[in-house]
Amino acid sequence: MTTIDIPAGSLFGIDNLPYGVFSVDGGSPRVGVRVGDSLVDLAAALGDDVFAAPTLNPFMAQGYDRWVAVRERIRDLVAGEVPDGAVHAIERVTLHLPIEVADYVDFYASEHHASNVGRLFRPDAEPLLPNWKHLPVGYHGRSGTVLVSGTDIMRPSGQRKAPADTAPVFGPSTRLDIEAEMGFIVGTGTPLNAPITPDSFPRHVFGAVLLNDWSARDIQAWEYVPLGPHLGKSFATSISPWVVPIIALEAARIPLPGQTDPEPLPYLRESDPWGLDIDLVIAWNGEEVSHPPFREMYWSPAQMLAHLTVNGASSRTGDLYGSGTISGPEKHQRGAFLELSWGGKEPLTVKGEERTFLLDGDEVVITGTAPGANGSRIGFGEVRGRVLPAN
Ligand code: CA
Repeated sequence: MTTIDIPAGSLFGIDNLPYGVFSVDGGSPRVGVRVGDSLVDLAAALGDDVFAAPTLNPFMAQGYDRWVAVRERIRDLVAGEVPDGAVHAIERVTLHLPIEVADYVDFYASEHHASNVGRLFRPDAEPLLPNWKHLPVGYHGRSGTVLVSGTDIMRPSGQRKAPADTAPVFGPSTRLDIEAEMGFIVGTGTPLNAPITPDSFPRHVFGAVLLNDWSARDIQAWEYVPLGPHLGKSFATSISPWVVPIIALEAARIPLPGQTDPEPLPYLRESDPWGLDIDLVIAWNGEEVSHPPFREMYWSPAQMLAHLTVNGASSRTGDLYGSGTISGPEKHQRGAFLELSWGGKEPLTVKGEERTFLLDGDEVVITGTAPGANGSRIGFGEVRGRVLPAN
């Protein structure tokens, strides 16, 4: 038996306990939980085969009461002794995509981001379109190209046509960008015609991850009218390997800012509207270029899920929805290079070089932290990706 030493100030203390899927030495992937700088193999430690699965889906499908009970068992376990073979040093494990992604939807819930993009894409019109404050705008993305952090991103090719061009051309994107977001994972779904109310969010949503919605702005700008994003987005979406339980984010809850003009329709109203106080950091080739604040989001994760299902659409274990790019009111809080460089017109200095969009070989790392219980701080880890040249 062994005891797990948690370093002082660890972002992965007993108030976090995020789940992931790991393998060691080429063995089969299974579910673990991160404690400090260690990973506990849950199938081995708890003797429960649901954790021998290669994704979190079977465990998530067991529902809220099990999520609470297992979390308590893990806390008891790591406070005492764990079987030797069930503990691995974090640097020895390979982390995999933690969930089998069912459907993937991406929202657009930051007023600052939506306003900035409106100014850039439609300079002669109102920045926010008329629907934006009445409903959480979103689109259906591609679940099959959701990738775990660390997966290389090949520069996509596609059609693009600048306004001054007479005809479109085909080739590698020249305006490859990121979007720093949070992702939310549905643990227990709902059948057809059973909408989820905002207040029942905690019983349906299992956890949260960091998400990078890689975006080819030139492909996007030409294709998006009138049906929205398609190939400019669907080539890759990266998520962090650790799924932080929603239960661990109680201390990060904050009152939702705004929403009085207009007041949301009844199906979007919460008895106690809440957002999450999560701080993100974007590092571009190792240099911190932005600090997006999730607390500034206009629409809450619970409202997004309520909107997603209000038409009677069913939901499934493994459904993933992104918050949309997180941008704050300040320039250094913008969550995409499109905004940070103002459409490429105001380059940033990255490692001494003037930069606008991503070049081959660039690496982007997004990290995130939030308040935890008892004055602690909890970490989401990172979502990392490097750009490879187009095929
Ligand atoms: Ca997005």
